[in-house]
Amino acid sequence: MSVERTLTATTHHLRRLHSHITRQRAALFAVTLVVVGLALGGLEKPAAAVQPAYHTVTDLMLPARVPSAPGADAPQPVSQEALSERLERVEVRPGQSLDAIFREQGFSVGLLQQILALNDETRALKRIRPGEQFAFQRHPDGSLSRMRYALGEDRYLWVDNFGDTPVAYTEARELSSQMFETEGTIQSSLFLAGKRSGLSDAMVMKLANIFGWDIDFVLDIRSGDRFYLLYEKIYRDGEYLRDGEILAATFVNQGERYQAVRYEADNGPQYYAPDGRHMRKAFLRAPLNFSYISSNFNPKRFHPILRRVKAHNGIDYRAPKGTPVYAAGDGHVTRSTYDKYNGHHVFIQHANSIVTKYLHFSRRAVNRGERVRQGQVIGYVGATGLAEAPHLHYEFLVNGQHRNPRTVPLPEVRPLEGQYLVEFQHHAAPYLNQLGRLEAASLYAARE
Ligand SMILES: [Zn+2]
Repeated sequence: MSVERTLTATTHHLRRLHSHITRQRAALFAVTLVVVGLALGGLEKPAAAVQPAYHTVTDLMLPARVPSAPGADAPQPVSQEALSERLERVEVRPGQSLDAIFREQGFSVGLLQQILALNDETRALKRIRPGEQFAFQRHPDGSLSRMRYALGEDRYLWVDNFGDTPVAYTEARELSSQMFETEGTIQSSLFLAGKRSGLSDAMVMKLANIFGWDIDFVLDIRSGDRFYLLYEKIYRDGEYLRDGEILAATFVNQGERYQAVRYEADNGPQYYAPDGRHMRKAFLRAPLNFSYISSNFNPKRFHPILRRVKAHNGIDYRAPKGTPVYAAGDGHVTRSTYDKYNGHHVFIQHANSIVTKYLHFSRRAVNRGERVRQGQVIGYVGATGLAEAPHLHYEFLVNGQHRNPRTVPLPEVRPLEGQYLVEFQHHAAPYLNQLGRLEAASLYAARE
């Protein structure tokens, strides 16, 4: 049952994927997960006889992707296969310029000057980096006839030198993606379960980023939690290049099922629950990657030094000094200052009469009156003011009342509506069906 279904993705599509990857706050849950991996890693049993659970998807009918128009600036190049035998590849060594490479190859330096003057893309060849690849083709007399250089992962820059003057143009490299499905059950850590399922650490991170708004991957993960996912691998010229995006996933945490499907509405690709709600919340649950919680929210805490009840109105997150702290949501800074109790501290006013407070920074990164976006760094963990060790004291207030930041219901981002919701549900249905079949098959197999 493994007829591979190849989804030919256009360069346009991949550029969008790419820009999304750069935008993702991929680092946000990174430290958190590494900590879990380290803490639990020793408990993992060796996975000797376990077969990787991934295989290619066979029977999923997905909406066709619209191919982008071929680049107007690309004349039909000579077929790549025909050329590849005669192309000499040269890798840039540390400190080497294209000028040095030309001299080494016996090419004319005057020709190089002509090439560099052709356009912005050829001018950029003045700043090449070690490890980059050139390929050259020669005339019978040994002089340069064609040169190829990779512009990013999806385009070649070609220079043809057949006549009086060289000609430069770009050529899209054929990128395609193939969808894979996989599943895993957590025994001790998400990373180890991911590894057994054939997932890279980067893919596990993506999975955690999608569900990190609902599931605390430090505190909430239990042995027996399961995941199912459909994801892409990207191929270039038929060879595996890198992992792509997660297209849809199910995560079952302590018996509760969460599902997400990737979809692009009006604001770049995002992940949505089957009913059109954003997976992302308007607030981060914890505004940093912490090591552990040293003091919980407790309105009736008995203070060991003062020997009386003194409320702890926030959560103390332990983390190394200098750990970045993020704005939990969009808002503006109402206070950014120092005093001997709170140390360096920042308050942020958000919509819906919500205020968040961050104390004991080693250093503040925003000023009073500044607008901040969710995930923006506002300061760094420290132990200034009344603090014995580096930690973040974090408070969450609604209408002036302190609430437990770990349990307070977080406001949702506005869900998909109208035509977007209709289109999303049309897009999501085959993915959700596939996830359902995957889960049913695995539960059936487990019962055998
Ligand atoms: Zn505290």
